[in-house]
Amino acid sequence: MTRFVGQGRTEGTDAAELVSVEDHLAGILEGIPEAEPIELRLVDALGLVLADDISSEVELPAFHNAAMDGYAVVAGDLVDATQEAPTALPVIGEVAAGMQELPVVSSGRVVRIMTGAPIPPGADAVVPVELTSGGRAQVAFHTPAEVGQNVRGPGEDIQVGSPIVTAGRRLSPADVALLAASGVTRVRCLPPPRVVVLSSGDELVRAEDVPSTGQIRDSNGPMLAALVRAAGGVPFSTGIVRDDRKALMHAFDTNTGHADLFVCTGGASAGTRDLMPDVIASLGESHSVKVAMKPGMPQIRGRVGQVPVIGLPGNPVSAFVSFEVFARPAIRRLQGRRDVARPTVRAVAGEELTAPPHKRGYTRVRLARDEGRWVAHPTGPQGSHLISSISRADGLAVVPEDAVEIAVGEQVVVHLLVD
Ligand code: AMP
Ligand code: MG
Repeated sequence: MTRFVGQGRTEGTDAAELVSVEDHLAGILEGIPEAEPIELRLVDALGLVLADDISSEVELPAFHNAAMDGYAVVAGDLVDATQEAPTALPVIGEVAAGMQELPVVSSGRVVRIMTGAPIPPGADAVVPVELTSGGRAQVAFHTPAEVGQNVRGPGEDIQVGSPIVTAGRRLSPADVALLAASGVTRVRCLPPPRVVVLSSGDELVRAEDVPSTGQIRDSNGPMLAALVRAAGGVPFSTGIVRDDRKALMHAFDTNTGHADLFVCTGGASAGTRDLMPDVIASLGESHSVKVAMKPGMPQIRGRVGQVPVIGLPGNPVSAFVSFEVFARPAIRRLQGRRDVARPTVRAVAGEELTAPPHKRGYTRVRLARDEGRWVAHPTGPQGSHLISSISRADGLAVVPEDAVEIAVGEQVVVHLLVD
């Protein structure tokens, strides 16, 4: 049985202080400005969102051409052709794809033709070589032909003025083919956003360094850069920034010029060294929020100058989950993408899933297929410092705010960590 929550407090926080996941995300997305399109070569724009509707200035195919290797004929010449009594005709020439000077076909004569070659004047059908004797000087036809058979007509694919791609569409490899065929070689699209990742904390050393007592390696910096890249952004790193007002101000100042978004971790909550909210406020605007979720309750949204800032908690699992829930949608929005949320699947709980009262729980789960259903198994202990719990996960199982427990075998929605 799912257990539901009554009135009250949640882990030392008054439920009334909590902001919902949806409200915090909406606040973040509101602060995301419209991106400026740039012009790119067609192949460089793959996967990016197009800024313009593009209509074709040409028709495709541009001319009548052969759909098969065979013979260009006058269909009326072959009405009596049968297997037993084939019709034999002289071959007066050959047309290959790309040829410009074409022989004229008249009744009683045929031309050997290759796929993609223009249909010579006078011919009205193409008979595949497989249905003939295949001769070079003379050829025997075993079946009649219909007018227009194996002839590709102008405009069958695209007409002049017809839309070939629309603004808001992500350029696919097939779109690249269509645009190239139409002679469009440059497109305006929304560039991948530049996301500056800032890790702060006096205890942090670089991954390549050996921590002394009390120090830890900065794993959030590389993790967030990887998450930014996986979300379609271009990550930049400030490197590790100390829990020091001046150092934080300097890191923001020197990076605003090339940032479309800041994603920060550490220093977001209520410790004496949690300077992030103040520093961001002094450079723009900062809202510190307790979000009704676990992991990941302390969050910041704001801006430095005109650049939006998302401040995530420092615990690696909290940073990971809140990146998924808040930063990834923001990065997708900056790309002009409509599909900002991850896909979800319905699964059944393979073990009991729990969450604190009034908070949305995100449990890291592995998904297994069982008798046509997905079963969600927690990846192990769920402490917000346990990095291994995220590396093994296929998804985040969501325990809603009004529940504290989902029992084994009950339905649960899982936010997938892959597209
Ligand atoms: P904070 O949000 O600064 O209070 O940090 C919460 C916890 O996350 C502490 O245990 C920090 O040591 C840890 N932490 C903060 N930043 C990082 C980071 N960049 N990489 C790994 N752990 C971190
Ligand atoms: Mg800290």
